[in-house]
Amino acid sequence: SESGATLANIDPSKLSVTKTTTPRELLPPEDLVFGKSFTDHMLTVEWNASEGWLAPHITPYQNLSLDPASCVFHYAFETFEGMKAYKDKKGQIRLFRPAMNMARMNTSSARIALPTFDGSAMLQLIAKFVAMEERFIPSERGYSLYLRPTMIGTQKTLGVGPPGSALFFLIASPVGPYYPTGFKAVSLEATDYAVRAWPGGVGDKKLGANYAPCIVPQLQAATRGCHQNLWLFGEEELVTEVGTMNLFAAMKNKETGQKELVTAPLDGTILPGVTRNSVLELAREKLQPEGWKISERKYTMPEIAEAGREGRLLEVFGSGTAAVVSPVRDISWKDQLVDCGLKPGQEAGEIAKKMLGWIEARQYGDEEHDWSYIV
Ligand code: PMP
Repeated sequence: SESGATLANIDPSKLSVTKTTTPRELLPPEDLVFGKSFTDHMLTVEWNASEGWLAPHITPYQNLSLDPASCVFHYAFETFEGMKAYKDKKGQIRLFRPAMNMARMNTSSARIALPTFDGSAMLQLIAKFVAMEERFIPSERGYSLYLRPTMIGTQKTLGVGPPGSALFFLIASPVGPYYPTGFKAVSLEATDYAVRAWPGGVGDKKLGANYAPCIVPQLQAATRGCHQNLWLFGEEELVTEVGTMNLFAAMKNKETGQKELVTAPLDGTILPGVTRNSVLELAREKLQPEGWKISERKYTMPEIAEAGREGRLLEVFGSGTAAVVSPVRDISWKDQLVDCGLKPGQEAGEIAKKMLGWIEARQYGDEEHDWSYIV
């Protein structure tokens, strides 16, 4: 082609649909396990460096066939997203702030030399797919269809270089409520011997390569009775994020007594969570007028431990698409156990409970809001 010719972007009007002839049986909602069962179909869009994005396809869910030399297997050219489709009281399907996931995926892709795409065109395709899989979305509160957009480098080469071809695919897994019997507060291990992310690194991108190295530290934490790693960074022991969630701490100021909701800043060492952003916006909307200070700032494990010792630590919770909020009971740090302010038998603090309610209201469309994207 002529030099300077622009490559094709994603064109939803070129979508071809092949429906399954063997529809799956729906599992009883109580048997749903996160990420274990999938819907009838998948969405795929191929890309190559000479043509750009090719025609999208929705096909029956099926195995991929890839050459063993495909660069994804050797150099981890892979990025993914995690988002959910919800069914509202009227039976309408809704996505939650999906443009943020498209934008984040483009940022991740660009970082590993995978192609970017027109987010709104991809969203149209995702909406088409989700509408086709409607029967897999239970209508009860807490249930949803977890969506896994994924992109891999497919070029057949052991040469280390930018992939000349890529595959975007979307699969979906129906999921039940994260807390079927109510909140369950978790215990964290403050982890300093393993580092998840660092300045100038890629911890703020959703690359598969960031996740595999976190499993061994998680298993080690589990042997000590902890559910998740609290990832610390540097000599100051900066608090970054927890497991696969962002972290929030609510504490009283030592001097003024003002209540502060604090989370780490987007400095490249934490993933910019959609839920994190939603918690911050809701906190500014609803808690700030009540006198709360809402902070994106660096904070440290010694600061949290001191607040805990002095009874100023009100509550700590994680935030993410899977659980929305995940209350923390305590943090094991060196030889200390930092109590995060829950009373015995209490499984969630006030802010975590309110946040879950506020966010779910917008996810399930109980509150009409522009965060909700009606399919
Ligand atoms: N941090 C990490 C490392 C994650 O994998 C996730 C899940 N995507 C989050 C935070 C939370 O992000 P979100 O609120 O967009 O789900």
